[in-house]
Amino acid sequence: MKITVLGYYGGYPANGIGTSGYLIQNDDFNLLLDCGSGVLLELEKYINPYDIDAVLLSHYHSDHIADVGVLQHYWQLAPNKPDERVLPIYGHQEDMDNYNKLSWFDVTVGKPYDENQVLSMGGLEISFKKTQHPVVTYAVKIKDVKSNETIVYTGDTKYFGELSEFCAGADLLITDTNFYADKEGTKWHMTSKETGELANNANVKSVLISHLPQYGNLNDLLEETQKECGNNINVKLPSVGLVIDLKDVKSLN
Ligand SMILES: [Zn+2]
Ligand SMILES: [Zn+2]
Repeated sequence: MKITVLGYYGGYPANGIGTSGYLIQNDDFNLLLDCGSGVLLELEKYINPYDIDAVLLSHYHSDHIADVGVLQHYWQLAPNKPDERVLPIYGHQEDMDNYNKLSWFDVTVGKPYDENQVLSMGGLEISFKKTQHPVVTYAVKIKDVKSNETIVYTGDTKYFGELSEFCAGADLLITDTNFYADKEGTKWHMTSKETGELANNANVKSVLISHLPQYGNLNDLLEETQKECGNNINVKLPSVGLVIDLKDVKSLN
């Protein structure tokens, strides 16, 4: 299984970089995980959007769904559609106004997920854990059945202890690390320090920090996170187009 970073800022795009979007691929399947601002334009550099097999949305904040509408237009309007396939877009049903928008004419169709089921698609098993965020949001665990490799994506969340059980043993943990360690006050995202705590408690092999701030020096955020994670966990900073092949992921020691 491999993952390509399509956008990684929290909240809004800036500096030519979009908000959350990840292309997850194995031999059989192309999954788009979140579809933030700028994601479709980036996706088109790597894959024909008609080759996407499914889209999965962690929640309905704009920085995670901004490009769903234009992806639907692509499937409706772009020439050379290879077949009559309808694109499934998975979302939760705890906000039906947004869920209903996932179905668009006869080109995309909304499909529900919840915490009580494991979805199977294209050799992937996908499970969910509700996070703590101002709107209903789910963390997502994706296991490639053939290789046993696992990615856990926290979605947007504040730090809470139970999340570590869900993330346990992940090969790659993609975290909402929106804040530097010194952030004070109410937080609906994690700091570098909290990402470190989560990664340690969950005993993951590697961490990709994401949902990053547009300010400050991101190398400081990386350093803060690596320091908290200790000497075993390999922490990475994203870049647009970065590809991580899960078979190459190892802990540091
Ligand atoms: Zn967000
Ligand atoms: Zn959010």
